[in-house]
Amino acid sequence: MSEQRSAPRPQGAGLYFSHPACLEHNPRAYMLAHPDTPERLQAVEHALAAHDWLGWERREAPPAVEGQLELVHSARHVELIRELAITGGGAIDGDTFVGEASYRAALHAAGGACEMARALVAGEASVGFCGVRPSGHHAEPDRAMGFCLFNNVALAAELALRELGLKRVLVLDWDVHHGNGTAEAFRRRSDVLFASIHQAGIYPGTGALSDAGSGPGEGYTINLPVPAGSEEDLWLSLIEHIVLPPARTFAPDLVLISAGFDAHREDPLAGCRLETASFAEMTRHVRDLAGELDVPIGTVLEGGYEPAAVAQCVRATLLALAGDQPAHSAAPDAMLTSRAAAQIGHHWSL
Ligand SMILES: [Zn+2]
Repeated sequence: MSEQRSAPRPQGAGLYFSHPACLEHNPRAYMLAHPDTPERLQAVEHALAAHDWLGWERREAPPAVEGQLELVHSARHVELIRELAITGGGAIDGDTFVGEASYRAALHAAGGACEMARALVAGEASVGFCGVRPSGHHAEPDRAMGFCLFNNVALAAELALRELGLKRVLVLDWDVHHGNGTAEAFRRRSDVLFASIHQAGIYPGTGALSDAGSGPGEGYTINLPVPAGSEEDLWLSLIEHIVLPPARTFAPDLVLISAGFDAHREDPLAGCRLETASFAEMTRHVRDLAGELDVPIGTVLEGGYEPAAVAQCVRATLLALAGDQPAHSAAPDAMLTSRAAAQIGHHWSL
């Protein structure tokens, strides 16, 4: 792999995956003020198009192929979503909906993440971004929830491990909500290091600091809940001082980011206070780690419900992935970082 990527790639040479089908999933057909709108993705694509896609190569996200969804999900779960779409659609729960076009959208979202993993592992680029929806990180192996039908990032990780021959995958989830679906998929596994920073006390209510995975997976789940109102200092401190050291020791062959942008200060669903530049800075830290390890980074869009903010955040993230400027070191946050270090330190000598 490193041999194929040894030639320096031009700045901005990432792969951007999407598909028009991802715009057809529309929960507002069921709930008037549903925050997950096609406009979120349209805003992202308009912003990127206005800057000539930052030089990234656009590729069509293919649909997940037969059996691919079962890398993570039960056949029963896949069938339930498919049947619900075919029979005209309906509600999974109070905020998760499947319309007639949703199954197809979800197939392309999942297939896009898988294809991105394949292309990165094949050395076709060192960074990728999936501009897809519905998002995936709340979807558990046997349950759709939290706007998510199939777990795009978990599927990409499983594909990399089971079909592409990788040994270890790091999944970093910086969506403001805990990535419970991804956590469940890999709870008992030591080949996926799952790290999530999320606001405490909001949906879905999981992701306590003390939950470090279980059985053979103990220590390979890093949950970092932060209080409402948390700003960039804390998030960057946790990335640099709590997530990156174990990640470096773990030495993944592939880094995947569950990139929600709902920790942005303008987001209507949560109460964290990140700036657009904060996401770029988190990305730079991850990019530097991946550079050290000489492994690719695949990024998958999750939440983020203020379309203009999401669009600017995605643009900043892509620029940072392509190597815009060096990361800056953040001071450790005295209280939360040391509490997290004490917990994580059981497993990873921090
Ligand atoms: Zn979210």
